Amino acid sequence: MKLEYKNIPVNEPLLDGNEKKYLNQCIDTGWISSEGPFIKEFEEKMAKQVGRKYGIAVSNGSVAIDAAILALGIGKNDEVIMPTFTIISCAAAIVRVGAKPVLVDCNADDWNMNVTQIESKISAKTKAIMVVHIYGLPVDMNAIIAVAEKHGLMIIEDAAEQHGQYYGGKPIGCFGDISTFSFYPNKHITTGEGGMIVTNDERLADKCRLLRNLCFIPEKRFLHHELGFNLRMTNLQAALGLAQLERLDEFISINRKMGKKYSSILKTVAGITLPLDRNNDAENIYWVYPIVLNDSISFDAEVAMKKLGERKIGTRPFFWPMHEQPVFHKMGLFVGEKYPVAERAARRGLYLPSGMALKTEDIDIVCDAVKEILM
Ligand SMILES: *Cc1c(COP(=O)(O)O)cnc(C)c1O
Repeated sequence: MKLEYKNIPVNEPLLDGNEKKYLNQCIDTGWISSEGPFIKEFEEKMAKQVGRKYGIAVSNGSVAIDAAILALGIGKNDEVIMPTFTIISCAAAIVRVGAKPVLVDCNADDWNMNVTQIESKISAKTKAIMVVHIYGLPVDMNAIIAVAEKHGLMIIEDAAEQHGQYYGGKPIGCFGDISTFSFYPNKHITTGEGGMIVTNDERLADKCRLLRNLCFIPEKRFLHHELGFNLRMTNLQAALGLAQLERLDEFISINRKMGKKYSSILKTVAGITLPLDRNNDAENIYWVYPIVLNDSISFDAEVAMKKLGERKIGTRPFFWPMHEQPVFHKMGLFVGEKYPVAERAARRGLYLPSGMALKTEDIDIVCDAVKEILM
């Protein structure tokens, strides 16, 4: 029997608030570059939302991490402890400044960094811990803060996946000496492409602003003491960001509802492990809806994604661990290192359609397809 399948994308953002209105204001006033009024407003509102003094809007979440690492002064011969289970941007930022990423494995249930492995990885060269909140549940920050304080380490917090999440009553994005966000369209709020650095440290904020703008100095235009980049966000992006930020609470509740609905249907399905609805520290905000294939399933996530793709269901694989990246092996990094939990998650994990615009009836269709491919 040939079934008719409906195309369900892995992610579709919701842009039906004030986005058009604010974008039109940009066009009507001619403010489309990084010199428009929405940027400052977006920076202030994002910073306030996460309880920070300063926000520095940049062109994406990856360069936000690059700037953060540079601003902290991390460089040659320094080591930064970070999870192997994350996006390449995190390790790339460390490697690019000549420092060394030192990895820890992830947890099997929330895929966040395994905080118990950190202390054994600390050396005289360790300068910082890079925390990355994965999918929908935050890292155990109390453990991180305790180790960081004990050893005098800085904290860099990649909050790209958890706008609007809280840990111990405090917003995610308030835990690092410096913290970063992404506004890529699959994140909780989007600016198309975009990112933000937040901090309470005026010196770090100033440094990030310099790095963002080619290290121009106010005193004399076109005179440079240091090399920067053009990492500027446009007023158009900030216009989107402001409209999206107005709806953050609503977006979080949409994703929570989505996650709970997926779980309520899939919990009876044999062969898959579902995300936790909460860990010790927080309730899941389901940035995405991840599932992991159990050993009883004879195929890997790659095959499952192909089967779902044939049914027009969009999916994404889990992160591929940093210690298994050819680019780093070529640099002599992580050769022979093993992090079995991340390795298994990478091979057995995928996530299901989880965008803001996903309709609840489409969740039923996705779940039916999941059941079908596992039979
Ligand atoms: C999306 C993401 C980034 C990168 O953000 P971009 O805006 O796509 O460059 C960084 N870290 C994590 C954990 C992410 O999920």
